[in-house]
Amino acid sequence: MLLGLLAIVLGCSPNSPQKTAADDTPLEFKLPFPTGTNYSVLQGNQSPPTHFGLHVYAYDFDMPERSVVTAAATGRVVEVTDQSTVGGYDPKFVWATNMIVLDHGDARFSIYGHLQQLSATVKPGDVVVAGQALALSGRTGMVTQPHLHFEVVDRLLQSIGICFVDFGGGLRGPRAAEFCESGPVPARMKRFRGDSNLPRDVFARNGIRLLSDLPGYSFRDGDEVHVVGQVEGVAARVCFQIFPRPGGERLAAYYGDVRKDGRFDFTFTLAKPTATWELNPSAYAFNVVRVNEGVPLSPATSTFLCIYPRADASATH
Ligand SMILES: [Zn+2]
Repeated sequence: MLLGLLAIVLGCSPNSPQKTAADDTPLEFKLPFPTGTNYSVLQGNQSPPTHFGLHVYAYDFDMPERSVVTAAATGRVVEVTDQSTVGGYDPKFVWATNMIVLDHGDARFSIYGHLQQLSATVKPGDVVVAGQALALSGRTGMVTQPHLHFEVVDRLLQSIGICFVDFGGGLRGPRAAEFCESGPVPARMKRFRGDSNLPRDVFARNGIRLLSDLPGYSFRDGDEVHVVGQVEGVAARVCFQIFPRPGGERLAAYYGDVRKDGRFDFTFTLAKPTATWELNPSAYAFNVVRVNEGVPLSPATSTFLCIYPRADASATH
């Protein structure tokens, strides 16, 4: 029922997430365990003590340790943490959750929490199909008992109400104490819909249009980031800047020159901004802004678009 912070880059937009042009069908999910197995729900949507706020649409499945956890939809693996060996009902275990996160495209991510140590059978970058085994369930992190915490979130970490295609219990899926038996994977769920890149106009309010794909999720220390875009108006440089969630002092800044035609194209390698702060597993936010000589980068000149939806974003859950 309790997960730590999630490793998510917050691509912040005033707009709703861009749809994949090739696919207008709604994303479907299946129960996250193998066909023919069944578990009941310990804690469902909108239920105490922790499935509120960001986690209002989370599920805790009553899975004994070492039960097989499967992908709820076809997607790309963007996060695997399975080194933790500890868990218990104490805030000190919040950061000790083993988890896997899948990107299903259209800014939809599924999260599988409290997994067994060293049980992941997938790695970041892998594309998995719905129903494919991911790892074994466990009791790592802040938990009262072994279970699988499952939720689907958007890129702002807000959980999303979903239906399970293999559960007949209604629009919002099972509630607490309901019993769920996983069915077969429908053939239509097997196609990968593509990664959740940021909408190209995500920084439009900053006078910047992206011309290349930027992932909406999970940059890591050491990752190379390539940013191509076009500025409106006059700017000497652009700045890619990173903030802690939910805002606050800028942690890192990377600059690129703007050409005469307003284009910019630069590459940088993400490094730890401080010795104690890590991109992963901390969630963070970033934006790209225009910079002119002599104009200091301050909140007044660098509009920070990300408004984190909940003040309790970093609270335990
Ligand atoms: Zn939970």
